[in-house]
Amino acid sequence: MENLNSIVNKQRTVFREKFKQAVNEIQELAEGIKPKGLEADIFTEFPPDSEGRKWQTEFLNLLENKISKEVYIKFQNILKERSDYKCLGCATCCNLACSEYSPEELKRRAENGDNFSKQFLSIFVPYKDKEEARKVYPEYIALLEENKEDEVYFYHCPKLTEDKRCSDYENRPQICRDFPDNPLCILPTSCGFYLWREKSEEQTLYLHAMIEVVEYYKEKIPVK
Ligand code: SF4
Ligand code: SF4
Repeated sequence: MENLNSIVNKQRTVFREKFKQAVNEIQELAEGIKPKGLEADIFTEFPPDSEGRKWQTEFLNLLENKISKEVYIKFQNILKERSDYKCLGCATCCNLACSEYSPEELKRRAENGDNFSKQFLSIFVPYKDKEEARKVYPEYIALLEENKEDEVYFYHCPKLTEDKRCSDYENRPQICRDFPDNPLCILPTSCGFYLWREKSEEQTLYLHAMIEVVEYYKEKIPVK
């Protein structure tokens, strides 16, 4: 069976491939509408009203009104496909939630109006220490230790019963209902959404790459 490390390594390799693909596609798009005979590239400083400036403006419109919208729609479709899968009740996500924020930081964020932090703190409490969390999902903790330079904090939900049921299911917050809302998050193989993640991963990485490339072009083309 594929282990967590190989999933993460594969993701990095795939992201590099998808990034190159996105760069090629965006470059082709720019070249495809380039005025005939123009030698300069899309990042050149052209005078106002020149052919080159019109090209840049048209290309930026394409990025904004076509490419970015397509990326958004495709991502929404991936999220919709999540409803073809369902939670199998393994309870891993209730038993081991991790956050880059400490309880104090989450509290500060919640006080400043961050809705996710508010919901998170309404259910999760921190593990005493990492070793306690390790007992729940040792492979996952090891993976984070290897790959994350920043501190990660582990939490669990006291509403989970001994027989892995939610004792307040009807009132569970939206973050529980939405989990997992990101097809790139690391899921245990026991998760009912694991196959959704597998199926969506490549396209999601491509869409992320596309967003990065589009943002790069928008920032570097000297037209404001
Ligand atoms: S509220 Fe229920 S569903 Fe949400 S984390 Fe706690 S036990 Fe799980
Ligand atoms: S990890 Fe997946 S299957 Fe397990 S409780 Fe969470 S959503 Fe359900």
